Amino acid sequence: MSTTSSPKPVHVLQLYPRDMNIYGDFGNALVLKQRLTWYGYQPVMHSYDPGDEFPEEVDVVVGGGGQDSGQDRIQQDLLGISEKLHALAENDAPMLMICGLYQLFGHYFETREGHRIQGIELLDITTYGTDNRLIGNVVSESEEFGQILGYENHSGQTYLGEGVKPLATVRTGEGNNEKDPHEGARYRNVIGSYLHGSLLPKNPAIADFLIGTAVAKKYGEALGDSAAPGLTALGLSELTAQARSVAATR
Ligand code: GLN
Repeated sequence: MSTTSSPKPVHVLQLYPRDMNIYGDFGNALVLKQRLTWYGYQPVMHSYDPGDEFPEEVDVVVGGGGQDSGQDRIQQDLLGISEKLHALAENDAPMLMICGLYQLFGHYFETREGHRIQGIELLDITTYGTDNRLIGNVVSESEEFGQILGYENHSGQTYLGEGVKPLATVRTGEGNNEKDPHEGARYRNVIGSYLHGSLLPKNPAIADFLIGTAVAKKYGEALGDSAAPGLTALGLSELTAQARSVAATR
């Protein structure tokens, strides 16, 4: 990046931070903001709650988890912006949905009480509430991102259909459900996951996949092309090692 040109904007949309943001999920948006800055871009952060105007420009979408009641509160609004989210996903926009919003990106979440919360069916997944809450640290392995670490806390259990691939295979913990070893789901550039923690500070390779995909699509460049000299020294491997050592002490 030359010192005279201003940084190129990258628009990050955070869905429903008021109702869908637990166990530190807000941290995912902060990581994207910080890493975009490190890589020499101008992060433009948008926050979308029910009734808000949907931003005109969106390059990356993130969304967090929430109580069943929070999922109920945003359901109608989410169905209202479903078409926009589908259009973005089909256009290969990178997205990361955690837990409660991961569930609602699927067909539906049927709670323990038999109450069905309709999803936007962007991911071919279905979730059923159970009496067994899956809680604890998770270690999983993914071909794409290597080891993925996080924390799960959910009573809904998710089953994948043929339209998605698992994000990772669980080594410790449960992930999507108690029956199969899968964690999360992948479709185009959309990632769904049960992992809080927040996920991205512990797994910067996923953060760089999200922003790397966004800048490749928008500016036709690789992550790092716009980084100021010196900042590239703060490379992925070093940051990953730092994040891992912090995560390992928790
Ligand atoms: N309410 C959902 C469940 O318990 C999602 C929880 C979450 O986002 N952590 O399954």
